[in-house]
Amino acid sequence: MSSNVDHSKIPELEHRNFRNDDFWKEIPAWASVTRGEFADHKWQTKNSIRKVEQVKKVLGDRCSDELYQDILDGQKKAPMNIRITPYIFSLIDWSNPVNDPLRKQFLPLGSQFLPDHPMHMADSLNEDVDAPIPLLTHRYPDKVLFLPTTICPVYCSYCTRSRIIGGSTESIDKETYGANQKRWDDVFEYIMKNSRIEDVVISGGDSYMLTPKQIRYIGENLLKIPHIRRIRFATKGIAIFPMKVLTDDEWVEAMQDVMKLGRAFGKQVVIHTHFSSPKEITKWSQMAMDRLYTEGFTVRNQAVLQTGVNNHIDTMVLLTRQLSFMNIQPYYVYMHDMVPGCEHFRTSLKEGIELEKAVRGTTAGFNTPTFVCDLPGGGGKRNVSSYEYYDQENGISVWKAPNVKPGQIFFYYDPLHSLSKEAQDRWMNEKSRNEMIEAARKKVEDQSSLKPK
Ligand code: SF4
Repeated sequence: MSSNVDHSKIPELEHRNFRNDDFWKEIPAWASVTRGEFADHKWQTKNSIRKVEQVKKVLGDRCSDELYQDILDGQKKAPMNIRITPYIFSLIDWSNPVNDPLRKQFLPLGSQFLPDHPMHMADSLNEDVDAPIPLLTHRYPDKVLFLPTTICPVYCSYCTRSRIIGGSTESIDKETYGANQKRWDDVFEYIMKNSRIEDVVISGGDSYMLTPKQIRYIGENLLKIPHIRRIRFATKGIAIFPMKVLTDDEWVEAMQDVMKLGRAFGKQVVIHTHFSSPKEITKWSQMAMDRLYTEGFTVRNQAVLQTGVNNHIDTMVLLTRQLSFMNIQPYYVYMHDMVPGCEHFRTSLKEGIELEKAVRGTTAGFNTPTFVCDLPGGGGKRNVSSYEYYDQENGISVWKAPNVKPGQIFFYYDPLHSLSKEAQDRWMNEKSRNEMIEAARKKVEDQSSLKPK
């Protein structure tokens, strides 16, 4: 039964209001692109923005000289190259690009960068250290992370794997690898030999960039391992390029075949996606999700908490509701990892905790995301409130991960811009910095020694 209610007029129902206008026609170069052309995944890929000059070319007069220069400056500092689908590019509010949450995520400006935190790390989550063989991180006892490719349909400024994804930039040399099937067989062999592993995350890079043949190859090889019970394909694709789900039938059929094979074996095959802003969501996203849902897919979302993108209660609640409405489970919201070139995005732990409190209770518990801190140094994901000690004055939280790395202590640091001037000065001095960290460590060690054995 259709409803005559105009949801855009009722604030509590704003999440049912999916944008469905010809928004891409606002971009001068695409003013005459038809809905059919825009829907075509090949058109989206062919017209993706991959160079700064293309920004100017498609925007024409809408790109001021000042903005263009700022984008050029951004490329000198950014750890990620540019790659933006026309879908996302035309959803940016070009009358106010500086403050736009999509521009912030995919097209860095030189003027936005802040100096990195003194404790930042290229491989903040220790994925390379916890890798027994190339392309595979084995941290949790029963779960592994498989990175079959380093290519994505967009390059996100906040990427936690900026050390390997999307090719070298002016500021970082990377050992990027494409999707090389020969290297994957060693991964299958390792998993086969380790019978405790039940769960495989296939990430990268992005599963959207795997061919149908590669998806089947990976899916079949993993599912036939007797102890594997769950596999998850990770892709940001649904968020930034829903047209592929709608028009690339071969890719969807390959995913479907793997999912059906999993069902036949009594095993889970699900998709994890990556919406971070309600602005990424339109009628196209809903239509893509309708297709996946009707065909039997479970889709979960992992968002990254980012300043100016989603660190506002209303934004986070809207994102949560809109995802739920499209049959995507809002699974995680991550504290931003401590990787280079991202200090302007990061928020304090306190802000993450406050947002979690504000979101909880706005919808059903199973659709409420867990706010987590993926511990620098490879302690794994911990609920934001489960720290052992938090020195808010200096922005130092101390954590333990007894089931991942027993006996080890981990630290997460708030961004310096969230601290007082005095605290920032203490961080700039190596001696006082080490003293602050050691004082926080000692607090936790003292607490532990007081606990009954
Ligand atoms: S899609 Fe994922 S892996 Fe690719 S650039 Fe974005 S965050 Fe990084």
